Amino acid sequence: MKISTCSHRPVLVPCRLENRDYQVDPYIGCEHYCHYCYALNQAETDWDKEILIHKDIAGQLRKGLKKISPQKLYMGYYTDPYQPCEAEYRQTRKALEVFLEKGFSTSILTKSDLIVRDTELLKKMDNASVSVSIAFNDNRIRQQFEAKPINTEARIEALSKLRKAGIKTSALICPVIPYITDVKPLIDMLAPLTDVIWIYGLSIEKRSDQNWQNVEVILKTQFPDLKEQIDEVIFSKDHRYWTQLRQDLLDIQRDRQLNLNIHI
Ligand code: SF4
Repeated sequence: MKISTCSHRPVLVPCRLENRDYQVDPYIGCEHYCHYCYALNQAETDWDKEILIHKDIAGQLRKGLKKISPQKLYMGYYTDPYQPCEAEYRQTRKALEVFLEKGFSTSILTKSDLIVRDTELLKKMDNASVSVSIAFNDNRIRQQFEAKPINTEARIEALSKLRKAGIKTSALICPVIPYITDVKPLIDMLAPLTDVIWIYGLSIEKRSDQNWQNVEVILKTQFPDLKEQIDEVIFSKDHRYWTQLRQDLLDIQRDRQLNLNIHI
């Protein structure tokens, strides 16, 4: 993997999520290379070959954070802050050290257990929180859709360690791929380890998008019998598959008194 320095992108940018004002993406690109990733549609490099890092991330953040009041900064929107190269390049670690120094906290989304390395830093922040995302019950199927992330059990183990350390934890079941993702067993695994579980269906904007091009090839080659059904559901937001799944999840939420945040 080639790691190049990027000097044209700001590190601290307005956050796309409703409940956060700013986000920090320590890398540009993500070597995890999940084939369904929406960020692939704006990729600046081939994530299989090259990832960009910000020049002097700590210096840039020190300057940027002077201009805003202490708050929770989101990490994990366009890139996984704990993708494999973080073990060597420590861009995320450097960002967390500046957050702590300046009185900021963070909310992190990852698919990696490398985050456990930074438990002590997260514990020192005001109410830092970590979310881990999973989407597959079967790791052989997972590997067809996700190139490099660690397996589901290892992510659950990381979540467990963070929770035992007193970090606030949540989880994403994302993306739910129709007829492939079995949501209920995933909820069973996550419920004891999280305060809230967010659930999102696979969302593809256009057939010409890179993430759909990738997923379509996987469906054609690995799931030829399901391909047409899955295609139909993905491009029909009010399909009965989604309606039924949503109702099933609402029933689980009511019966088991779980905090599910359902975006189906
Ligand atoms: S880990 Fe997240 S950001 Fe990275 S490729 Fe997968 S979905 Fe995209």
